[in-house]
Amino acid sequence: MSECQSNEACFESMIESVLDYAIILLDLEGNVRHWNRGAQATTGYKAEEIIGQNFRRFFVPKDLEQGIPEYLINAALRDGRVFDEGQRIRKDGSTFWAHVTITATHGKDGEMIGYTEVTRDLTHAKLAEDQLLAKTAELESSQVRFKHMVEEVQDYAILLLDENGYVEHWNRGAEKIKGYTADEIVGKHFRIFYTEDGIKSGHPEYIINAARREGRAVDEGWRVNKDGSLFWAHVVFTAIHDQQGKVTGFSKVTHDLTETKRAEETLRAKNLELENFAFAASHDLKSPVRNISFLSSMIHEDFGDQLPADCRDLVEQISSTAQRMDQLVNAILVHARLGIEQSIDQVDLNDVVNDVLEDLAGITSNCDAVVQVLSLPTVRGNATYLRLLFQNLIENSLKYADDDRTPRIRISSDANESHCTITLADNGIGIPPAHCERIFTMFQRLSNSKARDGLGVGLAHCAKIVHLHSGKIWAESEDGQGSTMFIQFPFSDQETVNHSNVNIKEKNNETLVNV
Ligand code: ADP
Repeated sequence: MSECQSNEACFESMIESVLDYAIILLDLEGNVRHWNRGAQATTGYKAEEIIGQNFRRFFVPKDLEQGIPEYLINAALRDGRVFDEGQRIRKDGSTFWAHVTITATHGKDGEMIGYTEVTRDLTHAKLAEDQLLAKTAELESSQVRFKHMVEEVQDYAILLLDENGYVEHWNRGAEKIKGYTADEIVGKHFRIFYTEDGIKSGHPEYIINAARREGRAVDEGWRVNKDGSLFWAHVVFTAIHDQQGKVTGFSKVTHDLTETKRAEETLRAKNLELENFAFAASHDLKSPVRNISFLSSMIHEDFGDQLPADCRDLVEQISSTAQRMDQLVNAILVHARLGIEQSIDQVDLNDVVNDVLEDLAGITSNCDAVVQVLSLPTVRGNATYLRLLFQNLIENSLKYADDDRTPRIRISSDANESHCTITLADNGIGIPPAHCERIFTMFQRLSNSKARDGLGVGLAHCAKIVHLHSGKIWAESEDGQGSTMFIQFPFSDQETVNHSNVNIKEKNNETLVNV
């Protein structure tokens, strides 16, 4: 601050130099008497342009019409001080958002001499506030729209549960699927939708705890409608957290899959019927086929040297055809029986592949095959069938090896929280991409397999086994570029997944085992 003669002069100079606030002295009529640098910076007027002018000129027409300047002056006169926020006009005609304090000013003897007006330009703050308000309004309206949308959804029951599983919100879909109106169900525990057995076994508590623990839980099963009828529900529970990460409730989305379930059940019944038929037919065919085989070998043995050469050939053809028929009948029987054995265990696929490779050690060493096995997961399944699955796949990779290169097989796996995928890649003769699907159908052999023995049933067995484990199997290949078989198994909640990718062992001519 510059040196000044007296306290008063000092004060005046201070006011003069304030830039962030417009400090204006008005006389009793509201005419400008004093004008500081802040007032110039805010409005654009220099002191000489504005002194003597009435402060009404800073008001926008709308405020003038409403008599706002007079109201402010009167209020300051009456109450000593008045605050205002609103638009004001600059010299260049532009407006700014002003926060204004007008204070009644008195002379030395206490007589009223005018007003002090302190104005702060809040345009930026106001803009930010407006933006915030607009954003909030937008958010609110999108939340409202979202709420409406959820309410309107008809194909899914969308519920909000509190942290203990009591229904807080209920949409139209829920009403349509389960039959209760919101009034009837809000406040009730969601276990009301479970069957008696489900409630007794504590399934609702189990599933909500799983969602609390894991953040999400998926469930499928029969549920009970208001009228007591059952529907097949696919349900996803998702935990809702507060900012501290505490679970405050759950969303529960239910899809009614009754029709799909019933169609599946009908299909399953039809398949079972077909399998039973195949089983019975192949079983009954076995003995006549064996008989043909036996009789033709008898003719060959007892009368072979008495028969003319072309007749002997025919008998040999009957014999080999009967043998092949026997193999086919056996294959159909095996296929029909797949699924009869029901025992389910945690099966370590490392052990399964290890066993298969031990059995095939003779073949792998004969053709100098290099088999690389990375660490495989443990899955829930039937050990015998899983063994048959890997045996078929590895045998195929060896059987359909390219004669011009050393057979190489690589078995690896990948997993996420819902499933694991086992990949079996070879560098054999490959499969034309157009045939990658049909090779999983019974008796389908490709032209590339003609010179190799086979019945065309191995992959059909594989597909059935994988299907029995609720999994998927598919092939990817380029003709002549080797082929890759993918097998996907779902993980269920109870499964322990032992999956690490790093354990690699590779040896030539040896059975390879993961430790
Ligand atoms: P099979 O081997 O007895 O013919 P599969 O059902 O095991 O019967 O296989 C069906 C067909 O798929 C085979 O005939 C062959 O053409 C093709 N195939 C299967 N695995 C492979 C493979 N790893 N590489 C190339 N072709 C394959």
